[in-house]
Amino acid sequence: MNNIISENVQKIEISGIRKFYNKVTEVPEAISLTLGQPDFNVPKKVKEAMVKALEEDKTGYTANAGIIELREGISKYLKDFEINYKPQEICLTVGGSEALMSVFTALINKGDKVLIPTPAYPAYESCVKLLGGEIENYNLTKEFAIDFQSLESLIVEKSPKILILSFPSNPTGTVLSKNDKIKLYEILKDKNITIITDEIYNAISYEGQYYSIAQYSELRDKVILIGGFSKTFSMTGLRLGYVCAGSAFMDSIMKVHQYGVSCAPSIVQYGALEGLKNCLSDVEYMKDQFEKRRDYVYKRLTELGFEVVKPRGAFYIFPSITKFNLTSEEFCESLLREGKVAVVPGSAFGKGGEGYIRISYSYSLEELKKAFDRIASWLTMKGYLKDK
Ligand code: PMP
Repeated sequence: MNNIISENVQKIEISGIRKFYNKVTEVPEAISLTLGQPDFNVPKKVKEAMVKALEEDKTGYTANAGIIELREGISKYLKDFEINYKPQEICLTVGGSEALMSVFTALINKGDKVLIPTPAYPAYESCVKLLGGEIENYNLTKEFAIDFQSLESLIVEKSPKILILSFPSNPTGTVLSKNDKIKLYEILKDKNITIITDEIYNAISYEGQYYSIAQYSELRDKVILIGGFSKTFSMTGLRLGYVCAGSAFMDSIMKVHQYGVSCAPSIVQYGALEGLKNCLSDVEYMKDQFEKRRDYVYKRLTELGFEVVKPRGAFYIFPSITKFNLTSEEFCESLLREGKVAVVPGSAFGKGGEGYIRISYSYSLEELKKAFDRIASWLTMKGYLKDK
């Protein structure tokens, strides 16, 4: 079979997040905090708009880039984040996943070097490998911010073609600070590097002010922004994301997008349009709930003696488990089988993720409480809490 399957495909594996999620089904009574899937329903008006679109038979292909009204809506929405793209610079995609894949496919030649943070969302490394690109990992600090020493030396030594930024971050929950945004600008302004900034969690930032490299009009020709509605409107299964880029990139991204999927699902586009017009208060509500959950899981973890950084965005928390002297895989396996709680081993997010676990708090407070009570009992049973 090895000579039939593409060499690049042989280089990648299915996502460690999914792998672990699949194990959970073997332990039916386990509570799963593995997936990045909000437990809220899709806002009512978004649902109604999709039903209406269906009843009005808006079920044909849309323009390849998506319906113009939605692209106008996104253009306006991003202005609230001080990010400026014209509707013509926006393409609707089949989730953030297709956005990433179309962008990478449009840019990567065999051997091109791509700077990817570690730990990071696993799709970056896998997509790049799939296309024959080469991964150069840059490190994060103890607080999961960019380690600029690591980043700058890689830029000098490796002459990378692409830099991936990912804020708010999956799996760490870090957001980009004002200082780091400025530092990035200073480093990147004269370099011939294309920046792909994945901001799919932009709506879930607990800080007052939002910072993004895409806010610099001076960098317009170098930046590609990825966004989406999976998390914003709690509609992961409805598959709608977007890419924003100047025409020098967009014309090529559109070719890939066109042959890959033709267009994003039509009725979902009408739903998202309604969402941007009339459901941003639902998004605020969800964010407030996530913030309460963030505070809760942070408190529980701290009380249990975990070393943990308080996340400032997204709905993940990434505590260290090094003091338990187990690999993240061993820790999670044991917690699942004995403690009946599933969380994702940090190693699923690349080599920088070893020594950590990812807990998704996109679950209800009741569910989180039950899970943490079980984690506490498991730690006691293992003798890990005896010093406390
Ligand atoms: N980027 C990041 C950082 C993500 O966490 C995810 C999904 N978990 C995606 C992109 C892909 O999102 P979608 O479900 O819209 O394809």
